[in-house]
Amino acid sequence: MFNPRYARLFETVKIGPKTAPNRFYQTPHASGMGWRAPKASAALRGIKAEGGWGVVATEYCSIHPSSDDFPFGYLSLWDEDDVRALSHTADAIHRHGSLAAIELWHGGYHANNRLTREPLLSPSGQRAKFIQPMSARAMDKSDIAEFRRWQSKAAVRAKQAGFDIVYVYAGHDYLPLQFLSRRTNRRSDEYGGSVENRTRLVREMIEDTHEAVKGECAVALRLAVDELHGPRGITHDGDASDIVACLAELPDLWDVNVAGALGNDSKSARFSDEGFQEDYVSFVKKLTTKPVVGVGRFTSPDMMMSQLRRGILDFVGAARPSIADPFLPQKIREGREDEIRECIGCNICRAANNEAVPIRCTQNPTMGEEWRRQWHPEKIAPKRSDKSVLVVGGGPAGLECALALGRRGHKVSLAEAECELGGRLLAEARLPGLSSWIRVRDYRQHMIGKLSNIDVYPESRMTADDIVGFGADHVILATGGSWRRDGIGGFGEEPVELPASDMVFTPGDIDHLPRAAKSVILYDDDHYAVGSALTEMLRLRGHDVTYVTPMPVVSSWTQMTDEQGFIQSRLMALDVRLLLSHRLTGYEGKAPQFTCVYSSRMQSVAGDALVLVTGKVPNDALYHELVGRLPANSVSRIGDCLAPSHIADAVFSGHRFAREFGEPPSAIIRRERPEP
Ligand code: ADP
Ligand code: SF4
Repeated sequence: MFNPRYARLFETVKIGPKTAPNRFYQTPHASGMGWRAPKASAALRGIKAEGGWGVVATEYCSIHPSSDDFPFGYLSLWDEDDVRALSHTADAIHRHGSLAAIELWHGGYHANNRLTREPLLSPSGQRAKFIQPMSARAMDKSDIAEFRRWQSKAAVRAKQAGFDIVYVYAGHDYLPLQFLSRRTNRRSDEYGGSVENRTRLVREMIEDTHEAVKGECAVALRLAVDELHGPRGITHDGDASDIVACLAELPDLWDVNVAGALGNDSKSARFSDEGFQEDYVSFVKKLTTKPVVGVGRFTSPDMMMSQLRRGILDFVGAARPSIADPFLPQKIREGREDEIRECIGCNICRAANNEAVPIRCTQNPTMGEEWRRQWHPEKIAPKRSDKSVLVVGGGPAGLECALALGRRGHKVSLAEAECELGGRLLAEARLPGLSSWIRVRDYRQHMIGKLSNIDVYPESRMTADDIVGFGADHVILATGGSWRRDGIGGFGEEPVELPASDMVFTPGDIDHLPRAAKSVILYDDDHYAVGSALTEMLRLRGHDVTYVTPMPVVSSWTQMTDEQGFIQSRLMALDVRLLLSHRLTGYEGKAPQFTCVYSSRMQSVAGDALVLVTGKVPNDALYHELVGRLPANSVSRIGDCLAPSHIADAVFSGHRFAREFGEPPSAIIRRERPEP
């Protein structure tokens, strides 16, 4: 039953000439799809609207070819074809009564222009933001005049495509922010110098956009109110207050956040709590009567209410919580808060964008698959047969598979060896900063508890005989994977000879590492979260830790999750000794030996214990025992038992199996092709 305590979340709010049906606002977020996947993008945004988000925004949308982010998934409004393509997204959002917003974008020297090969632009002349050896020229007055025309033309096209809210985007280090910030604006004309001068372009853009849409669309200003660069840049209690005061009533809506390098805005849970932006954005509402939206990985309705009640925000903004659960608003409206699939703050969704591939999510395996696989986050086809299933293993893959098969109506039994469900999550969520990862287990365990056709058997380690004797029509092995002890990892392709020592550990047996082992060497050839989080844990327990990796930085893959800089800073702050660009090549007496990947010089590192965080092998012994003992095609593997990977892949694997169980095989996913 709907809890009237949350009524305020469902009030309508005026945004200029438009009215939002409620206070849930899906702020712009990357989908990794962009202009190359208009149907998939439209389906994704349509699902958000169906799930109850009153405003649904697109990702960044280039206003001109001089701002191109290829191969990353950005949209464009350069011509009439773009208008046609984007109208599908606006239509998909309108179909469910929500407002459609579009984030018009120009990257300035933060663009790539690899596709268009246009010269880069910037306020004062700047080296390109990314690694490419190119520089942006300083815009002269005619460039500025042209730039304003591009924004106006794109705004007209946005209106034609059917959007209700058109953005002026002065966030995330992009061109308008480059004009606002004294770090990057060193101009001496009327567009540089004082705050008023630096704000001039953004003011003109807002006025131009209002004029272009002729009062028929709302105009939003997205502003980074703190670049987290200290007084060198925009700070919430410095320049940002003056900027907001100066533009206060000009936009119809303020969309405010923090920006700057290292993924400050979408900080992972390892480095931020729910509502972490409040201290930065709370001043904005004091300076304007226009509605304000902000973000902070909000998943708790009470936290959302608190933001509204205390006058911090008018709209509850969300990117990641809307990815993890597109139906979050509807669940609150129907009194089903307990069914919210809470974002765990792992930033796998960010990784997809940084890898230039369609979005994926740890908690929501259907994210990005709305059009491609026709998956809906809340609906699943009923079973095609009366087959009973036994799922062995209650980690992320087994839990998701059991739940999805249960939703399809199958009789499901889930056997787990341990007394607690969760599999690898039990260990990983104990690591510093990763406690929210247990939500992957909690959500599924809770939902499984609601289904009478799923029986859960904890403390039930199944042997092949047990499984055969159980008599299920189909057996699904979700028995996970084990960390390797032979040195084979991302860099080390061959086994390394290690002495038979009781002082070599993996994350799987780390609890046996004695406290007396004063100095510990952790070798990370996995490059994701566990190596560095384990290092942190060992350091916090008082061990002297040397972190060694073949890569030139700590946890190199976390560059994809926007965490790498934070992680390396943390290890350095904890006085962890770093030995980078070195791979494990053997042992010299009792000391592991590492070889520089560039110079081939070797060095021994003395330590009391070695922890290997390298590759994983599937725990598939049961599978091989069962094949031949069970009828053909009645035993399957999912998750790490099939191919060890990160948690998102395990959940996806379990979900996919359940969706495809008993269905006609379809190996090919839909792809968008150029029109003939
Ligand atoms: P995944 O990420 O693929 O879900 P996990 O390693 O997280 O894999 O989970 C595997 C789970 O399977 C663990 O909870 C483990 O205790 C359980 N398990 C492994 N072997 C058996 C078995 N023979 N019987 C029951 N449970 C098992
Ligand atoms: Fe949240 Fe992780 Fe899903 Fe992103 S991938 S929405 S951070 S659970």
